Amino acid sequence: MSHHSADNERISVISPVYNEQDNLRSFVAEVLGALDALNLPKGYELILVNDGSTDDSAMILDVCVREHPGVVTAIHLARNFGMESAIMAGLEESRGNAVIILDSDGQDDPAAFQAFVEKWREGYDVVYAVRTSRKEGAVQRFLFWSFYRVIGWLANFDLPADASNFALMDQNVAEALRSMPERNRFLRGLRAWVGFRQCGVPVARRARQKGKTRLGLRGQWKLAMNAIFAFSYVPLFVFRIAGMLTLLLSAGLILWALYCKLIAGLELRAWASQLISTSFFGGINLLGIGVVGEYVARIHDEVKARPNFIVQRITRE
Ligand code: UDP
Ligand code: MG
Repeated sequence: MSHHSADNERISVISPVYNEQDNLRSFVAEVLGALDALNLPKGYELILVNDGSTDDSAMILDVCVREHPGVVTAIHLARNFGMESAIMAGLEESRGNAVIILDSDGQDDPAAFQAFVEKWREGYDVVYAVRTSRKEGAVQRFLFWSFYRVIGWLANFDLPADASNFALMDQNVAEALRSMPERNRFLRGLRAWVGFRQCGVPVARRARQKGKTRLGLRGQWKLAMNAIFAFSYVPLFVFRIAGMLTLLLSAGLILWALYCKLIAGLELRAWASQLISTSFFGGINLLGIGVVGEYVARIHDEVKARPNFIVQRITRE
């Protein structure tokens, strides 16, 4: 059963923008075309979040706002805060009964809106795109593949494999996400974590229209780390196990040394065993401190309680 009625359907589309000057015009035209085709009784809004672009994106966005009064809103952030924060900024501004999130580089196909809305009408609260094909290289595809398997094993909830940011979310879910102020966000994880009724629809991921990836491997790595450390304590557990195993090992070594010295009457060459054990335990310790430090740094981020983003100005007509 659906919790919204067809006569109050209004959709907010949110898209983060970072140096997309060559993609914006065709992107906005395509999205507005797809929204028109939905014939929503209460219409729609398109919220474009300029994530501190250094090219002409800001100017182009303001032109789009003027060309589509009452439909397009541009939020200009004070600097580049990252895609997840930009999406958060859009969510805070959105007022629709459902929100759709998609990239502004043309990789997410607005033709999927139709399928999203159909599932929403069936009563699903989250409808996410499942990538049926990827346009990235083999190395990146392998990294994505491993990431979803690792996080599936590590996380304390189910993260659907190959689910993308591209999704429709009911206002219930949008509200839940707005109420989660945590830093270092991983949207796909938080979205899965909130629950409600969720389903995926297959959508082919297109190639980026113009320019190179703005996120890059470094950005993807940061997201992967957020996913692991925000949703799992397995890294700490691994070091508890490693600690116990090395403790057992050193106990064995002590017994063996005592046996050599007291019973067999052998002379021990101290430097060799010492070198091995100090470097081994030193390494384990440093790794463990590193893992603990990762959690501590995240606690530090939360305690500072800085906002996820700063808005410079909002343009709407
Ligand atoms: N993006 C952003 N801030 C950033 C990096 C990217 O708002 O710091 C936007 C970007 O404009 C695009 C979306 O996030 O609309 C996805 O970025 P990108 O295409 O670089 O990611 P990829 O497709 O390579 O995973
Ligand atoms: Mg892209």
